[in-house]
Amino acid sequence: MAVVRNLIVVLGDQLTPSLSSLAAADPSRDRVLMAELHDEATYVRHHKKKIAFVFSAMRHFAEELRAAGWTVDYVKLGAPENRASFTGQLASAIVEHRPTGIFVTEAAEWRVSRMIEGWQEQFSIPVAVLPDDRFLCSRPAFGTWAAGRKQLRMEYFYRDMRRRTGLLMDGDGPVGGKWNLDSENRKAADIDLFMPRPKACSPDTITQEVLALVEAEFGDHFGDLAPFWFAVTRADAEAAFEAFVDRALPFFGDYQDAMLEGQPFLYHSVIAQYLNCGLLDPLRVCRRAEAAYRAGKAPLNAVEGFIRQIIGWREYVRGIYWLKMPGYERSNFFGHARPLPDFYWTAETGMACVKAAVTQTREQAYAHHIQRLMITGNFAMLAGVDPHVLHEWYLSVYCDAYEWVELPNTVGMSQFADGGLLASKPYAASGAYINRMSNYCGSCRYDVKQRTGPQACPFNALFWDFISRHRDKIGHNPRMAQMVRTYDRFTASEQQRIRASSNEFLASL
Ligand SMILES: Cc1cc2nc3c(=O)[nH]c(=O)nc-3n(C[C@H](O)[C@H](O)[C@H](O)COP(=O)(O)OP(=O)(O)OC[C@H]3O[C@@H](n4cnc5c(N)ncnc54)[C@H](O)[C@@H]3O)c2cc1C
Ligand code: SF4
Repeated sequence: MAVVRNLIVVLGDQLTPSLSSLAAADPSRDRVLMAELHDEATYVRHHKKKIAFVFSAMRHFAEELRAAGWTVDYVKLGAPENRASFTGQLASAIVEHRPTGIFVTEAAEWRVSRMIEGWQEQFSIPVAVLPDDRFLCSRPAFGTWAAGRKQLRMEYFYRDMRRRTGLLMDGDGPVGGKWNLDSENRKAADIDLFMPRPKACSPDTITQEVLALVEAEFGDHFGDLAPFWFAVTRADAEAAFEAFVDRALPFFGDYQDAMLEGQPFLYHSVIAQYLNCGLLDPLRVCRRAEAAYRAGKAPLNAVEGFIRQIIGWREYVRGIYWLKMPGYERSNFFGHARPLPDFYWTAETGMACVKAAVTQTREQAYAHHIQRLMITGNFAMLAGVDPHVLHEWYLSVYCDAYEWVELPNTVGMSQFADGGLLASKPYAASGAYINRMSNYCGSCRYDVKQRTGPQACPFNALFWDFISRHRDKIGHNPRMAQMVRTYDRFTASEQQRIRASSNEFLASL
């Protein structure tokens, strides 16, 4: 048997041929190790579609590597040699191959990173942990940007990233003269608009085998396995992205915040799951979107908005995650402690907006940003749900969920549980916002115009009660002070009715 020099450990979200650990290795002497691990599928009980997506994409990536000349040890779930955990699997591979070293690209998540740090001592073998250059801002570079700043606002980070990448730049300034065109991106969608569906892929034999495995092993996890239409190869993910650029990108900006019954995707790209596991490259998709703008195929507000989500928000939340972990996941500024209501799993609620968001989450392992932020996230914050419990829910139910991106979005952006490190104000809203941005209220059993009473939209009393409960914590925020003043202008009996309605609703959960 040929002597193995290094073992290259490739994790399930590292499905990129140019990965730093592979780039540092030699296919003729080094060996790749990949494994489908029970521990990873269950540390939170992931949506069945997500497990199937990751396992199938891993199997296809192993084939891609073999075709490129690599020797790959791929350990399927259920195989006799499967050791269920990274460390167990690596221990077996070391005994079998006696490598002289381990190469691994740094893990995206804290939990996995801690585990990798222990390998060198545990196995008495050199472990080279290489930076993940698929991100555009390295962890040290984000640390340098953050050092000494009083406020870590995404907007300033984003401008730096525009300068650094040269995306949508005109000399030293932004194309069109403005860095951020978000104010143009607040239109409510109309049911008569043409809604392109994301490009669907039919499961091939590899995916069908994985789907059967997931049904057998994780059949009791949340979520529907069928229909399964995600791309699981780089080529199909790129084709899905091209379809988005052609059909939806031109409207991405206008309807970014809109929600419509029966339209889970609207003009969103539905590529986060591909970016996060390495099937798509963030810089490449941004350059492609910019090319569409420069070719006159998509307007600036759409392309700027899209690029901002990726080189701005995506990189920024990763920076915050690594800056603040560990500890960040236990943030709880408001001291909220309520358990997660059952309807986050069952969708059994009279609130049409929540029902729609949870139903499509169960069916598609997808909800777009405003549904996550302003429906399920907003409800949880107003109702006082424990942010940690909510974090575990978001981490388990979406196909694109990985802690480095999910946690800051949940704890920071949606729950304000970090006290305003990430968001400039709590994203708290009453039913009026949901009514403005969606058509859910028309079919709801509650009345969005009523503030209190059994028929009133629950978001209304909960919103005002939230303002009143937390006035000491949010009243000094200029963007919330106006809400506190409005609450203070309500009569004492109206305030009393708000409290009673809110309490009654919460007691019914
Ligand atoms: C409570 C909550 C939890 C979230 N959890 C996740 C998560 O686990 N994984 C995840 O990738 N995103 C998460 N997001 C961010 C965002 O909602 C998703 O990236 C987006 O909905 C994915 O759908 P899309 O690909 O159609 O995105 P689009 O709306 O088409 O946006 C394009 C891309 O921009 C990036 N992006 C957009 N918004 C954000 C953001 N706020 N943070 C980071 N990247 C962003 C994504 O890569 C996305 O694919 C969360 C947001 C909230 C409010
Ligand atoms: S009335 Fe309230 S609960 Fe019903 S859909 Fe509208 S915002 Fe949601």
